[in-house]
Amino acid sequence: MMPRYRSMPAQPASRVPDEAHQPPDEPLWCSRCNTDQHLLVNSIQSHYPPAPNMVDVAYECHACRYSYEHVASVRRVAAVLNRPGVPQGVLQFGGQYLHCGEPMKTKSCELRRIQAPLVLTPGAQLRMYEVLINTRILGCHCGFRMEIPD
Ligand SMILES: [Zn+2]
Ligand SMILES: [Zn+2]
Repeated sequence: MMPRYRSMPAQPASRVPDEAHQPPDEPLWCSRCNTDQHLLVNSIQSHYPPAPNMVDVAYECHACRYSYEHVASVRRVAAVLNRPGVPQGVLQFGGQYLHCGEPMKTKSCELRRIQAPLVLTPGAQLRMYEVLINTRILGCHCGFRMEIPD
């Protein structure tokens, strides 16, 4: 668990963006390899306290296997995510899933009927149960599709 520090503002937080109160916007970078060419983003989390376009990003350099975690702007993260040639997996960011560095869009919703073998009480016979689940089909502009339980 990462410690979370909450500041107690003496005044209500201003909605006006104030550059002076922005956390530092560090680029995604492997200081061991001195390059950002081998970085794979593992996760993006909302930053606390909320700052415009700032996220907590965790990534790994797959050349030296060193992992990093710090605050960066969405623009910095996108610079690595949108780079061609490096396959990036699906990322979860808040309630959204990202692929190719962009939030995936809901294509359709479906009600799926799934047959699942279940043993409800220990020692009982294995029985097939029918389960209905709502799923959402998410799609990326590159053609990648993913189905998730709603
Ligand atoms: Zn490295
Ligand atoms: Zn994609």
